[in-house]
Amino acid sequence: MATACSNPGCKSPVPAELESAGQCVLHFTQQLERTCWDLRLEIARGTSSAARHAELSDFVADQGEVLARVGTRTPKLSDELKSRILATFLTLMNLHEHLERAAGRRASISVPNP
Ligand SMILES: [Zn+2]
Repeated sequence: MATACSNPGCKSPVPAELESAGQCVLHFTQQLERTCWDLRLEIARGTSSAARHAELSDFVADQGEVLARVGTRTPKLSDELKSRILATFLTLMNLHEHLERAAGRRASISVPNP
């Protein structure tokens, strides 16, 4: 039997792919969206190191894989949840773009002027 979501008051089942997160699809995507927003702000501040950016890049890829598994293996996903998964994918892709742009800025700053 599927476990229930760990969010207070939520009785939605936790799909096998999200067992380690302990959340239903809706709450997992909401939390991931918030995390992506926080990371986007962190990237925008421009104070994080190249190592931190690599860590964030791995995070984006890992979460994208989790979302792909949730979207393709969870039975009976409603259209609303499918839509949420796609929207969260878009958020991850946008975060990836921010990381690439930040890496480009860092590279142009580190190139010495002639
Ligand atoms: Zn939930």
